[in-house]
Amino acid sequence: MPADPSAIARRCGECTACCDGWLKIRIRDHDVYPGQPCSFSSAGKCTIYDERPVDPCRNFVCGWLAPTSPLPDWMRPDKSDLIFLPASFAWRTIPVDVAVAVGKRPKAKARAWLEAFSRDTRRPLLLQSDGEWHAHGPPQFLRDMIEQISGGLDPLR
Ligand code: SF4
Ligand code: SF4
Repeated sequence: MPADPSAIARRCGECTACCDGWLKIRIRDHDVYPGQPCSFSSAGKCTIYDERPVDPCRNFVCGWLAPTSPLPDWMRPDKSDLIFLPASFAWRTIPVDVAVAVGKRPKAKARAWLEAFSRDTRRPLLLQSDGEWHAHGPPQFLRDMIEQISGGLDPLR
């Protein structure tokens, strides 16, 4: 889902993780979700690139591509096996970062980097791995996430 490249230093390059069905999006009445890539993605290319929707395709900038990204170069989603969504929602007014797995689970090095980042910056993190969500942050955040996720919160939305 490569964004408008004009304002961004990094480039998506060969990454197509956000078109490949790891996020939940809807494109022209087609649902995209884990296991269901975008219908318009073919061989790593967008077949409707010039007419792709503004939302989400043109607007979407993942947390690696963002100009202010704290993530190192080697954590591009197709290399780290995770899509970083910074400040995806708020917990008690505190921004929560979400890391969505690309495939079964993020690479171990990428997961360790993000967990250390969460700890060092005191930013709560929800990380997806092997189909489950793992919360990192204060004990109350962990308790709240267990309750909210078992109650139906879907961090992919
Ligand atoms: S329409 Fe194109 S840019 Fe948008 S999700 Fe599908 S393949 Fe990606
Ligand atoms: S996941 Fe990020 S780097 Fe990969 S194609 Fe989407 S916006 Fe670009």
